[in-house]
Amino acid sequence: MDIGHAEVEELDLVIVGAGICGLATALALHRNGIRSVVLERSETLRTSGVAFGISSNGWRALNHLGVASKLRGDSILIEGSKDIWLNSNRQRDAPLSVGETRCIKRSNLIQGLAEDLPDGTVRCGCHIDSIKTDPLTSSPILHLADGRAIKAKVLIGCDGANSVVAQYLKLKPRKVFPKSGVRGLTNYPNGHGLSPEMIRVYKDDMVFGRSPINKNEVFWFLLLPGHPPNTMDFKDQELVRQMCVEHIKGKFPNDIVRMVQECDTSYLFLTYLTYRTPWNMLVERFREGTVTVAGDAMHIMGPFLGQGSSVALEDGVVLGRCLASKIHDQADFQGNQNSIRRKVGEAMDAFVRERRMRLVGLSTQTYLTGLLMATLPKPVKLFIVLLMVIFFHDSVHHTRYDCGPPQQF
Ligand SMILES: Cc1cc2nc3c(=O)[nH]c(=O)nc-3n(C[C@H](O)[C@H](O)[C@H](O)COP(=O)(O)OP(=O)(O)OC[C@H]3O[C@@H](n4cnc5c(N)ncnc54)[C@H](O)[C@@H]3O)c2cc1C
Repeated sequence: MDIGHAEVEELDLVIVGAGICGLATALALHRNGIRSVVLERSETLRTSGVAFGISSNGWRALNHLGVASKLRGDSILIEGSKDIWLNSNRQRDAPLSVGETRCIKRSNLIQGLAEDLPDGTVRCGCHIDSIKTDPLTSSPILHLADGRAIKAKVLIGCDGANSVVAQYLKLKPRKVFPKSGVRGLTNYPNGHGLSPEMIRVYKDDMVFGRSPINKNEVFWFLLLPGHPPNTMDFKDQELVRQMCVEHIKGKFPNDIVRMVQECDTSYLFLTYLTYRTPWNMLVERFREGTVTVAGDAMHIMGPFLGQGSSVALEDGVVLGRCLASKIHDQADFQGNQNSIRRKVGEAMDAFVRERRMRLVGLSTQTYLTGLLMATLPKPVKLFIVLLMVIFFHDSVHHTRYDCGPPQQF
């Protein structure tokens, strides 16, 4: 097919973004015998980033995808969680995910998912610039930054917070929390000697958290008030390290300051925190024709519950299952095009239906938790605490969730 001057490649099922959700979705489809092509903008698999705390709902999804055992590797089972408030000199044992919690490096998760996919599934160096609708077939046509064009019968946007597919679906823009987040990793060649616990330390309007990954590596994060100046280069990792140290020196205990000072700067990652509002999650349509979104593209929600990656894995499994319940065979894509469009539309609606209330609950709990960390008048905070007690008295209830297997039985 020819559009203007560009030759258009035609593909059956395209996923944009080889992050956690894109790879999990491709794997869930593969476990059902359905081929997909994952288009990733970076030149190689994007294994940068630091690490994730994966709670039991995430491990269940990884189990269903058949990759959990190899991913556990040498990562430590987290056995406890503690909150410490330095201003009021208080601490408490915090509830931990029901079941298994481990912290794993992002590179391991990305590679572990990708290596179970058939060769040729992931195509790197494919930056999607824009998406238009083919006036004849109503299929989306993806325009790549290098001038190529791809027409997709089915399109799934797993392209993260800044999703071009979400823009195509005209989802409401994300909001920005008045906070920034830094993630880091510190390596202790002779062992860190820390207990297998997740610890969050609160001081003024900052939060520091840490969790051991294995015997030598510790993942940590720092939530800072406000945003760094526009002139700051987020990619200058030495500058990010200095900024963190300046914020916490003299305020947090020395072992924490040393952990940040001695971090491996190649892992440092500074971001603004953005989210889709819970009320958007309740009303957005999330599907148009044979196009939908999943993962952060659908429901970015801030890091306060540490659920971003686990929920992205769940999305992949559920979307794979819903599509497989309507597309039984790759040959279905070559059949009657109206029928395949209808079936895919139904599958995507089933996916959105199954996920909606789960995502509304999680984004509400994350939003309220984030609000509690903001500087707000006392009565407002008391009201938020009341809402949390009413709706989320079991604060780790969300970790009991089982997304089920990718196959329909
Ligand atoms: C490089 C990176 C590092 C991260 N590190 C951490 C971390 O250490 N800890 C943590 O908790 N969270 C981290 N995150 C966020 C975390 O991965 C997500 O919040 C969560 O896992 C949901 O995953 P996702 O697949 O929806 O989105 P993401 O993991 O963000 O993946 C989106 C993918 O889409 C690709 N993409 C985006 N736009 C386009 C486009 N136009 N064309 C083609 N491809 C596109 C991106 O390159 C990326 O590979 C990181 C994200 C990225 C991209």
